[in-house]
Amino acid sequence: MNHKPGAEVPETGVYWCTVCRSPQRFEKGQKFPPCKNLCPKGYWQLVNLPSKG
Ligand SMILES: [Zn+2]
Repeated sequence: MNHKPGAEVPETGVYWCTVCRSPQRFEKGQKFPPCKNLCPKGYWQLVNLPSKG
């Protein structure tokens, strides 16, 4: 699921921009900022990182 910049973060975790794949961690309840690379069609997508151990 993709989230627009300005939308509320539904779940704490690492998200990346769907355009440039730049990962960033957000906390639940925050608002998604625009991508730091200012991708015009960038959305935030939750990254499913493999758990350690
Ligand atoms: Zn981007």
